[in-house]
Amino acid sequence: MLERLSRPGPEPRRARRHAQGDRGSGAGSGGTRNISGTTHYHVELEAELADLHGKEAALLFTSGYVSNEASLSTLYKVLPGLIIYSDALNHNSMISGIRSGRGERHVFRHNDLAHLEELLAAADPAAPKLIAFESVYSMDGDIADIAGTIALAKKYGALTYIDEVHAVGMYGPRGAGVAERDGVMSQIDIIEGTLGKAFGVMGGYIAADAIIVDAIRSYADGFIFTTSLPPALAAGAVASIRYLKEHNEVRVAHQERAAALKARMAKAGLPVMPSVSHIVPVEVGDPVHCKMISDILLSDYGIYVQPINYPTVPRGTERLRFTPSPAHTDEMMDDLVRALEKLWTRCNIKRVGGYAA
Ligand code: PLP
Repeated sequence: MLERLSRPGPEPRRARRHAQGDRGSGAGSGGTRNISGTTHYHVELEAELADLHGKEAALLFTSGYVSNEASLSTLYKVLPGLIIYSDALNHNSMISGIRSGRGERHVFRHNDLAHLEELLAAADPAAPKLIAFESVYSMDGDIADIAGTIALAKKYGALTYIDEVHAVGMYGPRGAGVAERDGVMSQIDIIEGTLGKAFGVMGGYIAADAIIVDAIRSYADGFIFTTSLPPALAAGAVASIRYLKEHNEVRVAHQERAAALKARMAKAGLPVMPSVSHIVPVEVGDPVHCKMISDILLSDYGIYVQPINYPTVPRGTERLRFTPSPAHTDEMMDDLVRALEKLWTRCNIKRVGGYAA
């Protein structure tokens, strides 16, 4: 008891823990960012993200969904008269943000820059404009023409907003995404990403000029009125981003594994859909078979693969979506392709060049 009473008080104890690297932040952050929910880890993570994307600042949100929803709706508030041009296949979170901003909006056909230009050219040249698009579209595995979009933005005086959720950590020499890979990252105004996919944690963010980040920080309800990310998650994200910045060999292996799987599937006559990314969609074309194959792969072969049915994709294009990781071996891929061949025959699904049975 005496010993306990004579222990150092809270201040020295905290200082000692700090020196040991354990800052004792607890499971939750304890508040919103502006009211006690900002810790050393949040600030460190924002600095890490700004550095990753070569921007002046970054702003954290509790998910990628919230970052899109909050940022896009707030841009209408801070830029009166703003017109947003949105790719037809943009993620629900972008659509939701654009809708709730209640400003003028136009949807251009997916990855169709001629259509985008038509819409830009028809608008008042003096109106503020923003083009919102993704880099990697996760259902088809296709990638936007980022340089072409930037060129149009410059021609018509528009800002650019890119969702790199399916690319951060996985593309570019330091894992900043496809805009980094393509050497055009500095010309994108606002980059949005998630910490929940390649970075393996949870949370979302934007990175941009300080003036844009400050405007969104000051007016975005989805930033202001919610408990901030748990400090441990912020610390985990910093470690993950730092690791991936330094380890491009993981990205090289990832691309090689995706190419290896596509080649194996194509050789077996499985209908791999054209994809220029790490996403490997295989068309089944029927929702019942799609779910059934996914179930059997799990129950009989111990392989988990997502069935993607309507409304996520158009009817008739139901598919299995494979996302091989750098850790998948040739042997694993051979097992998978053998299992798929059996199931394709069992369900009498079309192969490239005809039906199996
Ligand atoms: N943007 C895209 C393109 C997505 O696919 C997703 C989620 O899958 C999100 C945003 C939302 O990200 P998060 O899962 O971090 O909320």
